[in-house]
Formats: sequence, C-alpha cells, structure tokens
Amino acid sequence: MKASKVVVTGGHPGDPECGCGGTIARYTELGHEAVLLYLNRGEGFCGAASLDRCGGIRTAEAQNACRALKARAVFATQYDGRSVVDAQRYDDFSRILLAESPDIVFTHWPIDRHRDHRAISMMVLDAWWKAEKTFALYYYEVAEDTTMFSPTEYVDISSAEGRRRQACYAHVSQQPDKWYPKQVEITRRRGIEDNVPEAEGFLRHPESRRAQLP
Ligand SMILES: [Zn+2]
Repeated sequence: MKASKVVVTGGHPGDPECGCGGTIARYTELGHEAVLLYLNRGEGFCGAASLDRCGGIRTAEAQNACRALKARAVFATQYDGRSVVDAQRYDDFSRILLAESPDIVFTHWPIDRHRDHRAISMMVLDAWWKAEKTFALYYYEVAEDTTMFSPTEYVDISSAEGRRRQACYAHVSQQPDKWYPKQVEITRRRGIEDNVPEAEGFLRHPESRRAQLP
C-alpha cells in the first residue's frame, strides 16, 4: 500500500481528534503521514485560565494530541469564534491546505451548530474545487455539534480506542470528560452499523474519488 498524506481539518484544537482520532491513529500506524490542520489556536476558551493565555495553552495541548497520534499540527490564522469567510480568507486557507499536497482531506460536515466548523467546511470545499478535486474529500462528525449526518463509509477503530482517548484527553483545558463519552456513544452506534465494536463514520463527497481508508 502506497503511503498517503492525510490532512484532517478542524474548527478548533480537539475537533480532528474527537471526530477522526481513531482513524488518524490507524493511518499513522500503517505508515501514512497525517497533519491536523486547525482553523485557529482556540483563543476563545481555556477553562479557568485568562483569555490571553488560551492560544498558547491550546497550541501546546494540540501538539501533545498530535504526538499521541504520530501526526503534525498546523494552524491557520483565524481567531476562535470569529471566523471570517470572504475572498481573502478562502485564498489564505487554500494556500495553507494545498501547501501540504494532501491525498485525502477530512473536514466537518457543514450542517453544524458551530460557526467555526461551518466556516472551515466551506473553505475546504472551496479549496477542493480550486484544486480540481485532486485530493479525496471526506466529511466527519463531532459530538453535539454535527446534525443531519448519515455516513456512507466506516473505519473500525476498536484497536485504536486507547490512542484516540489519549489524544482527546490531551485537551485538558476543554474538560474532555464533558464531551468524550458522547463521542464514544457515537462511535459505538457507528460500530453497530458496521458490525464492529467501535467505528468512525464518514461521508465521501459524491464527486470525490475513493480514498484508501485504513
Ligand atoms: Zn470545534
């Protein structure tokens, strides 16, 4: 199997880990390269610490999470909670994404409660068309925020549960006990659909080529 470059994009530090952590762990285990591309550094919330420290705290948490998944962290330059989607930002984001020369890109399903998630989903779609669909495009789901999502493909993450958990719990300031169990409920439900203990579910853009899922 040829090594692929996988880029998992997320609205905040923690989103790629939450929605795709098991799949990322399985990819890197198989020798593929993974990049977690965050739209911002999570400047908007970090628990009890003062707001001006959040970007630094959450950058460090994201780097710890990436270490657990054997992935690399990349940060786009938007501000948490204040995403702007305009011509300039489409270009800026697409430059960062395409500089990675991805074979496969995962992003948030766009019908989502959080504005930052919707914003990055639009920017990935725009970059994909701009790049003439040269990489495969898949959508993922995150606990509580994703709505109206029906996956078409599954990755068995039963063997990767420990690494996914470690990556999610690296985001200490985000109090993972509040959301991680909900994501586990989702992946158990997806597991029932796929006839395995736990699975992450994805929706391939219908015009995207099929990627090698682990
Ligand atoms: Zn988020």
